[in-house]
Amino acid sequence: MPAAARTPHLPAGTTTADVLVVGAGLAGLHVATVLARQGHDVLLVDRRTTLAGAIRTTGIFVRKTLDDYPLPDEHLGPPIRRVLLYPPDLRRPVSLVSDRDEYRVGDMARLYEAGAAAAADAGVRLSLGTRYAGRHGRTFHLIGRDGPTDVRARFVVGADGARSTVARDLGLDRNRRLLVGAEEVYEVRPNGEPPTFHCVLDPALAPGYLAWVVHDGQHAHVGTAGYAHRFPEGLRRAVARFSASAPGLAGVERPEAVERRGGPIPVGGVLRRISCADGLLVGDAAGAVSPLTAGGLDPCLRLSDLAARVLDDALTAGKPDALAHYDGAGLRAAFRGRLSLRRGLSHVRTPAATNAAFTLLRTPLGRAAASRVLFGDRSFPDRPTAPRVHAAHR
Ligand SMILES: Cc1cc2nc3c(=O)[nH]c(=O)nc-3n(C[C@H](O)[C@H](O)[C@H](O)COP(=O)(O)OP(=O)(O)OC[C@H]3O[C@@H](n4cnc5c(N)ncnc54)[C@H](O)[C@@H]3O)c2cc1C
Repeated sequence: MPAAARTPHLPAGTTTADVLVVGAGLAGLHVATVLARQGHDVLLVDRRTTLAGAIRTTGIFVRKTLDDYPLPDEHLGPPIRRVLLYPPDLRRPVSLVSDRDEYRVGDMARLYEAGAAAAADAGVRLSLGTRYAGRHGRTFHLIGRDGPTDVRARFVVGADGARSTVARDLGLDRNRRLLVGAEEVYEVRPNGEPPTFHCVLDPALAPGYLAWVVHDGQHAHVGTAGYAHRFPEGLRRAVARFSASAPGLAGVERPEAVERRGGPIPVGGVLRRISCADGLLVGDAAGAVSPLTAGGLDPCLRLSDLAARVLDDALTAGKPDALAHYDGAGLRAAFRGRLSLRRGLSHVRTPAATNAAFTLLRTPLGRAAASRVLFGDRSFPDRPTAPRVHAAHR
């Protein structure tokens, strides 16, 4: 049964919870489920009326996530091992083939719904069509389908995406460095080629990032991302232009109606202040996205694990300063190299500079460096830790 169908409406009035989680993307669903499994009373709200709609991500999961998190196999596309990197003229792509399965594209609508079902089974109260609208101390204001509701919660978790309102209300850091990305998605048939991730580096189509086609034999994702103010004709036009000439789509007929996805991508690294006495941030709200690859699905799961541990300590030990251990400044250190590379990439502004970069990419050293970024294991600190509150306090 879809999650929306078994989601009770939040009654107007006042309710209580140990933890209010705002946002039922991957980060919010994960942290809410882990907390409920630990025995806490969790209310999870999202302004979307269905988790199968308004999807913002391509849904490429990297090998490390697939190894460490039990995502339902039936909602994942075929494994991808091949990446082709193209210069602006699309000629002579650099081909990188891994000897392991590196990526799988998730059917995100089904994955969110499966996540919501798992959350509900763990005891999470999920309320869709419910917008977080502000707070007064530890009373949080929601606007639901049946009207306004106040929630008195011990803690709030901001899992409300790159432009987090919860971060603003808690006085925490907010994402300032953002890319914007958009793509179209449609069904395709296998084309005789192995599932492939095509990446085009072209500062006119994707200023500061890349344009992509993922063709895994089931779906095509055709999109681009970059710094919003540097798209010469705007993001929408860039997607349309790319879609008309994108590589890897020979013999593919683009249907008239396609699914469109898009949204902001924080690339400034994990924010420094991501917690206070009343709550904390996870996922895009915390800036937990690889600044180089712009991949956020793996980091949002790992940071949510850490958040659930810290909140569990705070709720069971009742120590007011427990959330102080949830500190973004320490996590930023792991991103230092990738933040420098991101700054480097943001300076590649002309086709000539991109072509020069390709001269390097074609050398053995360049290929090795690109393989490390694309097939590496280091999307986010493996098991981010915070000191646990001593058992005697529990
Ligand atoms: C075009 C694009 C493609 C991408 N592709 C990939 C990819 O292939 N692989 C990868 O690893 N990463 C990718 N990313 C990044 C990745 O999608 C994100 O990092 C990740 O989805 C973040 O999850 P989240 O749960 O933190 O936020 P989100 O998925 O954005 O969820 C936030 C939720 O909060 C809800 N919300 C917001 N405000 C409120 C409010 N006031 N009240 C109630 N609810 C609210 C929203 O409705 C939403 O459901 C992509 C990003 C974009 C934009």
